[in-house]
Amino acid sequence: MAKQGRRLWFIGFAGALFGLSSGIPGAQAAPIRVVASTQSLVELVQIVGGPDVVVQGVLQRGENPHALSPRLLPGARGQWKEVSWVVRNGLGLEDAWLGPLQAAQTDPALRKGGEKDWDASRSANLLAPPVGGPRLGENHPTSNPHFLLDPRNGIRVAEALGKALSKADPEHAAGYEARFQEFRKKREAQIQAWQKQLKSWAGKVAVTDHAHLTYLWSWLGVSAEATLESAPGHPATPEHLEKLVQEMKSRQVKVFFMQSGSPEGLARAITRRTRAKALSVDPSGQESQWDRLIEILAKSP
Ligand SMILES: [Zn+2]
Repeated sequence: MAKQGRRLWFIGFAGALFGLSSGIPGAQAAPIRVVASTQSLVELVQIVGGPDVVVQGVLQRGENPHALSPRLLPGARGQWKEVSWVVRNGLGLEDAWLGPLQAAQTDPALRKGGEKDWDASRSANLLAPPVGGPRLGENHPTSNPHFLLDPRNGIRVAEALGKALSKADPEHAAGYEARFQEFRKKREAQIQAWQKQLKSWAGKVAVTDHAHLTYLWSWLGVSAEATLESAPGHPATPEHLEKLVQEMKSRQVKVFFMQSGSPEGLARAITRRTRAKALSVDPSGQESQWDRLIEILAKSP
């Protein structure tokens, strides 16, 4: 997908890409066109939308939602043509990069808070935000935005997506409902199997570079989460790093989970001193990554 996938499709040639809708009486209804902020949301839209939806991601696979990709700098602010929905994670996750793209749209419905702006966090079960609220400059500005790392939230968001799509495109409502039900059935069975497979995680301590797996730990009953960052988006101080290393040694933590794409220098320092193994896990909770993630976790605690 390299070259094609990296293209900023919405600049200039969006019309060419999406210009096939005819509006001719009797012509087949054109698929609903969706812009989704992250690859995890792209996958959920594809699962529920099937052939009735065309979806394009803003972030590409493996890109960190907290890092501003050069592809998304101000020069990239093009118009999304004939787009029916903007599907985004919410909780401030995309404010730095999707925010300016949405604000630049001439169609006010596509802007944040507009009629075509769809916030996935409204359908998820969220953990309580930190007591006292986040500190200034944290990159989890309201509460932890990585809720798709609880697999049950994938079902909730998919269900709400199906309802939203059915409302926008009632002609294909039966298809959206059927695809959601198929996904729900499969995922519920997987969740039961995964919980059995991973039950040894309950009561353990999990260590990550960033709090991107908090929902996963909560689902698994992990007793404590420690992060290399002193707060989300705040680099570790030497004191914080030392405390983390000592805690990992005393509690015999064997794995250090990193966001994919994170710098590896500090991780190497930690793994050298603690003999823990560093493992990279994508922060966005993509549906297609669950099997791999469960496999990693099953070998780990
Ligand atoms: Zn985060």
